[in-house]
Amino acid sequence: MRAVLQAISEELHRLRADGETTVPVSEETLVGLRALVAAQTAVATVPTAPVARVAGATTGTPTPTPAGFNPLRAELEASRPRPTLAPPAPAAIRGLAPAEPITLKLPPPPVVTLPEGDKATRWAALKEAAARDPICVSQVRPGKKSVLGAGSLDARILFVGEAPGEEEEIAGEPFVGPSGQLLTKMIAAMGLKREAVFIGNILCWRPQLPTPPGTEQIGNRAPTPEEMAYCLPYLRAAIDIVRPDLIVALGSLAAQGLLAEKFTTLAAARSKWHEFAGRPLMVTYHPTYLLRSNSNRSKRAVWEDLLQVMERANLPISDRQRGYFL
Ligand code: URA
Repeated sequence: MRAVLQAISEELHRLRADGETTVPVSEETLVGLRALVAAQTAVATVPTAPVARVAGATTGTPTPTPAGFNPLRAELEASRPRPTLAPPAPAAIRGLAPAEPITLKLPPPPVVTLPEGDKATRWAALKEAAARDPICVSQVRPGKKSVLGAGSLDARILFVGEAPGEEEEIAGEPFVGPSGQLLTKMIAAMGLKREAVFIGNILCWRPQLPTPPGTEQIGNRAPTPEEMAYCLPYLRAAIDIVRPDLIVALGSLAAQGLLAEKFTTLAAARSKWHEFAGRPLMVTYHPTYLLRSNSNRSKRAVWEDLLQVMERANLPISDRQRGYFL
């Protein structure tokens, strides 16, 4: 039941991000959602302001550490802010009024400076910088991984999703769960192999929910604007390394993270060309939306966005491809 409620809660947040303000919900669901919201209203604080340092970069060279021991992680584990449960907020227990937001105080975004060198060298340096970033480290639960991105460093198309989920934080790779399998099919429908594109996320850690000690986190929450802003320099650096011709934002949170104040609703942003980091940016629905709606109409809507991407990337398009989901 909790997982179902979590899925409903995620869908409601997504709908709200897409501009929906009213949704019919049964009394039973409402009661469950109130309890869920009350349990998830958390306040966490993170103290220091880091500057991500990349080996050989002008910002400094990190001190080597003995293999298997990371003093930074040890120190952070000791001082790691544990999310604390706040009492149920009155707004939250009133039902579908917006839940009290997760407040995660983060320092200013890191300054990420990449070394000179080929793409592989720069990518390795970026991964190293993220692995040493105390904030990224503090947001990843023990035994889990942050997810910076994966794919071809020579990709012409770079997809940006939301944040790692359960499967992704185990694998350390983006989009390996059900929505990832659908994304792989979407990429294949474009006539491309998944390995030929690059896939990143607007957030490089799985957004944490308060979890009783010794238990796994159930469900996901949407990244906060502050979290997205914190990770953006890493995504920018990845884009700077890959230098794709085109970027595709998957869903409202990715679009919001990339377009900032230019973003209003997904409905307004999608199916249009924008710009990010000097590159054309297409906004479309997140694969999760397709998994939930599963209608030909929504599949066609996404497909039309991807056709625009294929056209702009000068990819061959057959008549059969043009007719998908009609
Ligand atoms: N959804 C995302 O947006 N990103 C992932 O990496 C996985 C699921």
